[in-house]
Amino acid sequence: MQYPEPIAKLIASYMKLPGIGEKTATRLAFYTLGMADEDVKDFASALTAVKRDLHYCTICGNITEDDPCPLCKDASRDQKTLLVVERSRDIMAMERMNEYHGLYHVLHGTISPSAGTGPMDINIPSLIERLKSHPEINEVIIATNASLDGETTAQYLAKLIKPAQIKVTRLAHGLSAGADIDYTDEVTLFKAVQGRTEM
Ligand SMILES: [Zn+2]
Repeated sequence: MQYPEPIAKLIASYMKLPGIGEKTATRLAFYTLGMADEDVKDFASALTAVKRDLHYCTICGNITEDDPCPLCKDASRDQKTLLVVERSRDIMAMERMNEYHGLYHVLHGTISPSAGTGPMDINIPSLIERLKSHPEINEVIIATNASLDGETTAQYLAKLIKPAQIKVTRLAHGLSAGADIDYTDEVTLFKAVQGRTEM
């Protein structure tokens, strides 16, 4: 017996989410069917709004409702320090820590030879342009994750940026190998920033 079309479609949609197989998708679809009308409407409109109302900041690549994003617009932040992260949610982790007050740049990925991702496929060209047009930036902190691809990216960026007489530092890895920035607690993250080392 086949599921009615609307439920089959919902199962197929849930299956597009990471880590969700058919069994879980089916359970979620039937769960959704049993939810209050109002909750389902809120869910559907949140899904639509996230794509409609959020954009990438044209300066730093962060996700934002306004462009430039509030972090780029905030003149009280230290305009001389730029911290490079893999993903927007790494910024959230840094901001939760509340000890870093410089600027950010989001790469939206890493260089990954195994996945065929090169420097031009992520936000590296915009980073280089930004450094050229803002000579006041005198330190770039590379906060890519402590994974193989994160390290490859950090090394690549250091080689690219250091000749411009800009100090390039890397988060101290009290972060264990493979640790993701956004899963790291604030104290560990704070120590990693404080103990950053020059590349
Ligand atoms: Zn921004």
